[in-house]
Amino acid sequence: MWECYSRNVATFLVMGEICTRNCAYCNITSGDLEAIDPGEPARVAEAAKRLELKHVVVTSVTRDDLPDGGAEHFASIIKTVRSELPTCTIEVLIPDFQGNENALKTVLDAKPNVLNHNLETVPDLYDTIRPQANYQQSLDLLTNSKRLAPGIPTKSGLMVGLGETDEQIMTVLDDLAAIGCDIVTIGQYMQPTRHHPLVKRYVEPEIFDKYAEAGHAKGIRNMFSAPLVRSSYNADKFV
Ligand code: SF4
Repeated sequence: MWECYSRNVATFLVMGEICTRNCAYCNITSGDLEAIDPGEPARVAEAAKRLELKHVVVTSVTRDDLPDGGAEHFASIIKTVRSELPTCTIEVLIPDFQGNENALKTVLDAKPNVLNHNLETVPDLYDTIRPQANYQQSLDLLTNSKRLAPGIPTKSGLMVGLGETDEQIMTVLDDLAAIGCDIVTIGQYMQPTRHHPLVKRYVEPEIFDKYAEAGHAKGIRNMFSAPLVRSSYNADKFV
């Protein structure tokens, strides 16, 4: 928090505190959904302005209950922050919109500076770790973003320590390199509570360095790989 806040970088979680999904590693509650607050874009923009932010990351719970998954709301936040703070760069960390390409286009048309969507883990662990998501669908979202808006950098992230192997990590890096993903973050999974999946391994810092080297060698321009790296950690450094 200090590293980011001291450089006027902050992340906002929007569209409520309740998620339609139930990923095993996540500590966000699943349950009765809240209505989308039309005043939220203005409040995010006001907060960004008062905090004099230089880079804003906007992320959300997954709202599979909404026809567009909340894409219009993301677009509205991008436009409102930009109108209040024209020099502030804006990164969106979006859900998969269940493969809805029109929803993705809505977000891209608002011209975020970075389009982030996390793969989170290796394909073999999706059934247990990310049961309502689909690896290929997430990869397709990043591919489609490049096709629809080639000028907007794409970003994705992974956690390690959930039971994956290093070989599986390498395969995911191959997949991300193949679709031209510009920025990849890799960090250590930490158990949010004792009811969440156990940490299967603590990855040595040197191994994180090897992931970064491998990603660069495969053609990924920006790798950010270390135990405490999170998706929005030092996010401004790539813009
Ligand atoms: S979709 Fe995102 S917010 Fe919802 S449970 Fe999964 S990780 Fe948590």
